[in-house]
Amino acid sequence: MANEQNNFAELISHCKEYGYIFQSSEIYDGLAAVYDYGQNGAQLKKNIRDQWWKSMTQLHDNIVGIDAAIFMHPTTWKASGHVDNFSDPMIDNKDSKKRYRVDHLIEAHAETLPEADGKALIEQMEALLANDDYLGLKALIEDNKIACGISKTCNWTDVRQFNLMFKTEFGAVASDNPDDNMVYLRPETAQGIFVNFLNVQKTGRMKIPFGIAQTGKAFRNEIVARQFIFRMREFEQMEMQFFVRPGTQKEWYNFWKEERKKWHESIGIPAEKLRYHDHAKLAHYADAALDIEFEFPFGWKELEGIHSRTDFDLKNHEKYSKKKIQYFDNDIDPATNKPYGNYVPYVVETSVGLDRLFLTVISLAYAEEKWTKEDGTEDSRVVLRIPPKIAPTKLAILPLTKKDGLPEIAEALMAECKPHFHCFYEEKDTIGKRYRRMDAIGTPFCVTIDHQTKEDNTVTIRYRDTMTQERIALADVKKLVLGKIS
Ligand code: ATP
Repeated sequence: MANEQNNFAELISHCKEYGYIFQSSEIYDGLAAVYDYGQNGAQLKKNIRDQWWKSMTQLHDNIVGIDAAIFMHPTTWKASGHVDNFSDPMIDNKDSKKRYRVDHLIEAHAETLPEADGKALIEQMEALLANDDYLGLKALIEDNKIACGISKTCNWTDVRQFNLMFKTEFGAVASDNPDDNMVYLRPETAQGIFVNFLNVQKTGRMKIPFGIAQTGKAFRNEIVARQFIFRMREFEQMEMQFFVRPGTQKEWYNFWKEERKKWHESIGIPAEKLRYHDHAKLAHYADAALDIEFEFPFGWKELEGIHSRTDFDLKNHEKYSKKKIQYFDNDIDPATNKPYGNYVPYVVETSVGLDRLFLTVISLAYAEEKWTKEDGTEDSRVVLRIPPKIAPTKLAILPLTKKDGLPEIAEALMAECKPHFHCFYEEKDTIGKRYRRMDAIGTPFCVTIDHQTKEDNTVTIRYRDTMTQERIALADVKKLVLGKIS
């Protein structure tokens, strides 16, 4: 029936028009790569976060959640390697003064080439990146005559590293050296988990293997921030560090690789839109790493990272803090018949961006539909087919008219349902217009109270995805919706 199409620019304006996402400080012309979530967006984001939190901390007996501060002692970032290594290779165009991330510049050029040539160029780039060969990268850009999008020239600086961490001043103590009061805004939530490893292990009497989960803001001064909320300067991560016995990390890495893909499918992402991508170049802390990629409207891109982080972080925190961060394992090692004893655990990390997951959900949900009605006339709608369990509003309660006692029945239904799930009440406009507005914000169920309700206590329930309607007992509404969203 419906003729559907997806359009990214339309999706962005739809998000604004229907209270999902606004440009930050828009009245001052915005702040690049920073976004605010509106009334519907904040609720959808919370629902996705809640699903993740529940799956991690409630459905796994051996994972607990924490909420660490954004500010951390600056030595944390020395120990984690971020001060020295958290940087991307950049290149500036001398004519336009525009700065590019080298991999983005080459990737964008590769997309304009015939497929085989583009692939060959990417392979050359990956080999050079893996060896930190900056002279080679500059030569690759020049040899391929890759020009700046603004100046159209190939007049490039050398390739340089640019640290992505934001700095700010902490406290009000005057000092001649500004670095004395300097703190970073955390570029990942993971370090808040590592520095609390012993606190949680001891107070929670946790036995290895176990995990610590956390959601929260992270900040990166991304050079090229683009594609809407895909790459932001302030964003939210949902990370889980799973602490394991050294030597078992490969097994747990494979476990979490499967587990996380299955979780994405459980919130409605089709399996064929997800794939694994093994990292060619490993980060400074990893012995294995892969991305779970999603097919975004602009191509396959990273949604979540699964990293086998070895004992790198805990060992470095031991070294820099001069405090022992170890675990005593009293399980018996069959090889020696003695307890495994003291060791620094290995870590397998799952790290997903909440905003990227939001973009995944909303881009899958967005549909522009057109169809021909039985009388031959054309009709259309824009609908967000968000899975009911994460939709911001579950049920719209709509009295057909503002009189004849219908609003009172609707208000009683509101009072019955709203302690259990998010409902929306509206009596303005024709019922058709009200249905279209609910389609546009992705409300899966609408209930209309009409004159027949007064006679036989039944209502019309209308389903967003099929637009079909049926008559059900007023008394069954709450149960039906609860059944569909659980
Ligand atoms: P990318 O290669 O896209 O820059 P990354 O490999 O640096 O990402 P990680 O450090 O592994 O990302 O971070 C884990 C997750 O955090 C990513 O999979 C992504 O979902 C999210 N993320 C990272 N950077 C951003 C950002 N700037 N905006 C939104 N989400 C982000």
